[in-house]
Amino acid sequence: MIVLIPIGEIEEAVLESLRRPLAQAFGQETQVGNKMPLLRENYYYSRNQYLASPFLSLILLPDSGNRALGVVDVDIFAPGLNFVFGIADIPGRRAIISLIRLRQEFYGLPQDDRLFLERTIKEAVHELGHTFGLKHCPDPICVMHFSNRLHDTDLKSWKFCPNCQQKVNKIQQV
Ligand SMILES: [Zn+2]
Ligand SMILES: [Zn+2]
Repeated sequence: MIVLIPIGEIEEAVLESLRRPLAQAFGQETQVGNKMPLLRENYYYSRNQYLASPFLSLILLPDSGNRALGVVDVDIFAPGLNFVFGIADIPGRRAIISLIRLRQEFYGLPQDDRLFLERTIKEAVHELGHTFGLKHCPDPICVMHFSNRLHDTDLKSWKFCPNCQQKVNKIQQV
């Protein structure tokens, strides 16, 4: 089971449209969990960003075999990085993604819902992929390829390459 957790205000439709691709990618049921509030303590006024890691610790540890994905619509960062699209707590099987930089509007470009949704699916599969023990993949088309820029995200697919897929399948069998 993969539980999607809205943190702060998240459009219901976005979470709903993540469910089918995630179920397909990991061969697991999905569910939308209870909404959690944004933590003001994580907010860094000077950067207008939230520190990402405390959000992870807020998410209850999923039961064995399950995964949790928190979704935020604020800008997040990790120490040493200007921003992150998402982060994963691998032993904890928890991850979060941020939607804000996946929208064309963030860059002053016209809204593109299809592109936004595609990017959201890729980031969600990528971070959850980490919770299945997958590392970054050198294949630029594989969803586990590291995205430093949105350009990398747009180049890759939301699917695993045969190598990564094999690893995911193995874990599903355990
Ligand atoms: Zn990654
Ligand atoms: Zn791969």
